[in-house]
Amino acid sequence: MNLADPAQLVLKGEFQDRIVRSIHHLLDLNTDEMRREFTSPNDFWHWGADYMGRWISAMSLLGQYTGESYGVDAVVRELLGFQNSDGSFGPYTDPHDFQEWFGMSRGLVGLLEYYQTSHDEQALVAATRLGDFYLANYPDWAPCLYECYSTALEGLVLLFKLTGEAKYLETARRVATSCAVYKGIRYSKELTPEGRRSPVSGQVHCQLTTARGLLDLYEITREEAYLTPVIELHDYISNELLWVSGGIGFYYYRPEENETCADSDWLRLNLQLWRLTRDVRFMHLAEHILVNQLFFDQADNGGFCYLRGLQNRAGAVFDACCSHHAPRAFYEVLRHMYATSEGAVWINLFMEGKARLALEDGTLSLSSEIQEDSGAQIFSLELEEVPPTPLRLMLRLPAWAGQASLVVNGQAVALNNETGYARLERIWRQGDRLVATFPMAVRVTRGHTLGQHVLFPDEVAVFYGPRLFSLDDTLNPDIRLHLVRLKLPSSLPDAFRVSRNNRLLAMGVTPDHASEPLIFSPLSEIGGTPSGLGRIHTVRSPYYKVWIPLEADIPLPS
Ligand SMILES: [Zn+2]
Repeated sequence: MNLADPAQLVLKGEFQDRIVRSIHHLLDLNTDEMRREFTSPNDFWHWGADYMGRWISAMSLLGQYTGESYGVDAVVRELLGFQNSDGSFGPYTDPHDFQEWFGMSRGLVGLLEYYQTSHDEQALVAATRLGDFYLANYPDWAPCLYECYSTALEGLVLLFKLTGEAKYLETARRVATSCAVYKGIRYSKELTPEGRRSPVSGQVHCQLTTARGLLDLYEITREEAYLTPVIELHDYISNELLWVSGGIGFYYYRPEENETCADSDWLRLNLQLWRLTRDVRFMHLAEHILVNQLFFDQADNGGFCYLRGLQNRAGAVFDACCSHHAPRAFYEVLRHMYATSEGAVWINLFMEGKARLALEDGTLSLSSEIQEDSGAQIFSLELEEVPPTPLRLMLRLPAWAGQASLVVNGQAVALNNETGYARLERIWRQGDRLVATFPMAVRVTRGHTLGQHVLFPDEVAVFYGPRLFSLDDTLNPDIRLHLVRLKLPSSLPDAFRVSRNNRLLAMGVTPDHASEPLIFSPLSEIGGTPSGLGRIHTVRSPYYKVWIPLEADIPLPS
């Protein structure tokens, strides 16, 4: 299967705006502080190549999409200058501790993803020296945050792919079979005096990054032993940790607060699993994570948050990692919007803009538009350049849309939703036009959930179409939102009115039994203002909440 080349995409709309904001923010982060892990490390901050490696990854790849140059070459030169004589990175601990091992894994990926876009041999040489350090020194066990070490897996597999040298594949196999994810260990039961679980701390970002590396290894070896633990981890997260927004907790046992790095890995893992299995449920989930959790994670300045939660936890922008890892995930979203294989094109994610896709025997160029009208999202696709031979278009029918309908050149097409995709095969002509109508309904999720667990049965979350909604102070300044209850009549459609500017209007009940109108808006609009730039800055946002208690006196809908 081939994925879309982001260089051949031109997008407009919200996703494009968010990508551009995240790039501008990363440009702002290219300061002395990004080098401080090397120039002035201390006990708390000595993550070595982490910060610079992540920046290099995100900016070299997004530069491919935008066609702009962000000065990545100069940052790579500086990073190479910090490499130790043994090939490792990190000036502070000897032997390297979990922070520096973790930083090395981000440095390895950064150098290799930069090499893929620049073909700069010096970057590849530095990456092979680092790969040799892993080969000679990788510990099969460590006393603290052991899941940090195995995050190099994706880099080692990529190093093997780019060099063809078997020693890197062997090192990747060794890292894989000794890692916590492979062994099915989520977190240790032992606590250190500081209260940290050890040796496996249950850090979700590290474990999901490792899981993505296991899938990379599965992709080149096709050995099920690498796939099975990832599917098990996916089930575990879905059952135990998944938020209604598609987000996940920072640690397995700290589920109320996020880390955008983990949300980004979770998004990428689902995209990767779709590619490997073509099971539409992974793509449905990827879309849900993107438009709800990842968009919610982004602050007004374009950076991304950790310690953020659905019940008024604005958290903090984490510029040392999250602000890089989310744009890196955006790049994977761009790649997976469209995919091609054996006479078929998959249309996975619905964005406005233009795309040019290389096929085995020609090119498919598309132009797409999205309109929201009369309770439906209408996705129109015009074919501007087509191949001469029959082509199968596989158009995803989003899970949130219920009964979708499709019209091709003015003719209604019967839909068979067995695979989650509408399947249309023919010799296409230039100017052919597809119009898919996805009904947008208000849906209420009953029971404040975490994965499959119901924490508070009388709380609800509200969706409209693909979006999760929340209540916040800016639209409801007169209401005590922390106390208000939602009044739901027995017929759900009567409970909400949809206004033209994407607001949902409903009735609430205050503690003194007065009825008050409530205005819901998409959770993704929360944003917030960070207190500064670089490393960690707390975010100021309006009071908001996703889970709303129901008015108890009213009979509940079934
Ligand atoms: Zn992070």
